[in-house]
Amino acid sequence: MRTHLSLALLLFVVPALTYAQTQAPHTAQPMPKTQSPESVHRSAIVIDTHADTPQRFVDEHFDLAEPLGGGNLNLDSVHKGNLGAEFFSIWVEPEQYKGQYARRTLELIDAVKQQVAHHPDQIEFVTSPAGIEQAHRDRKFAALMGIEGGHSIEDSIPLLRQYYALGVRYMTLTWANSNGWADSSGDIDDKSIPHTTEGLNEFGKDVVYEMNRLGMMVDVSHVSDRTFFRTLIISRAPVIASHSDARALCDAPRNMTDDMLRAVARSGGPESKGGVIQVNFFNGFLSQPWRDAYKAIKPEADKAAQALKDKAKAEGKPVPYDEIEKLQRQYVDRIPRPPFSILIDHIDHIAKVAGIDHVGIGSDFDGVSGQLPEGMDSTADLPKITAALMARGYSAEDCRKILGGNLLRVFREVEQVSKELKSEDRPRITEKQPFDKEQK
Ligand SMILES: [Zn+2]
Repeated sequence: MRTHLSLALLLFVVPALTYAQTQAPHTAQPMPKTQSPESVHRSAIVIDTHADTPQRFVDEHFDLAEPLGGGNLNLDSVHKGNLGAEFFSIWVEPEQYKGQYARRTLELIDAVKQQVAHHPDQIEFVTSPAGIEQAHRDRKFAALMGIEGGHSIEDSIPLLRQYYALGVRYMTLTWANSNGWADSSGDIDDKSIPHTTEGLNEFGKDVVYEMNRLGMMVDVSHVSDRTFFRTLIISRAPVIASHSDARALCDAPRNMTDDMLRAVARSGGPESKGGVIQVNFFNGFLSQPWRDAYKAIKPEADKAAQALKDKAKAEGKPVPYDEIEKLQRQYVDRIPRPPFSILIDHIDHIAKVAGIDHVGIGSDFDGVSGQLPEGMDSTADLPKITAALMARGYSAEDCRKILGGNLLRVFREVEQVSKELKSEDRPRITEKQPFDKEQK
């Protein structure tokens, strides 16, 4: 990247200087324009593929018109940062909502729609790439949804289809919990948790196929390495990693190896232009020193969290997830924030390994207890990414791809594959679901 860009700079800047020196100032000929990072950022359709704000809508009755109040995304920060579209994450905490996954999923979906209903002049509910572009033309913020964690479908293809019907346009196959049909990087080493033998069992393969058929993007963030590779073999459409970083720079099991980054770029079959990895802003996935410091204080933080859980249990109350988060935040706030450049390092690494057409942004805003690099506090800070990329030699076109162009391309291809699969008239998927949990 840097080499070809500095060459481009030489080719462009030197003639521009000569031109300026040889032309009389009164001549009407226009000067060649260099685009400022600000204008490049303003010209882009900026798409973020992961924010956990729906938890706030439901649990804190947070409205997007309110001040941030410790969060990372509201309407003001969206406008300041020129955020064009957000995929709001529909994430169901698997312990707290055991037995109520569908109910909680629907409440989060409803909460996103309520925000759109409260602010029709500013927000547009969108379910397609064309919709994102239309909202951009209408100067509105496009709200989309992705489900984080396949446990939300409760082993039911019909539920998956209904989530699609409600507007969900990606699903992360697992969160940090394996769900019986796909394995998670979060518990793959835990022998007490049942795992599949191939990464996906037969039902899991049906889920991926049905997502391809519906036109729901298959999201491989969080899954185990084996599930990742099995999914890429199965998926007829390119896949996304909605919020994942590079394992070469930070050794988190949930980050992606260079082989995985290249595999995403090649995903989706021979005709495909490949998938996209959307960079997560969480310090714990970006920075090795931060991660090491966290590991050192984790036992102490876990002990305090367990005490809180035990207390709730003794009182017969549900596990207070937000209180646990608040408590853990007190511990992690002691770790110094890594520099902003670490975020750009991951984008740069993925662009070099997977290619400039295969990297984007998936912030994880409102989902990481504020553990974000220096200078990245809300969506208002997104223009800093464009400025930093341009300072490293990325062109305006490169930046627009990273900021949202790549995701739009993949989203469009997923729609195209869906059209093709629907026209193939393949045998209907058996309705004999949910699958038998005994056959592992
Ligand atoms: Zn996540």
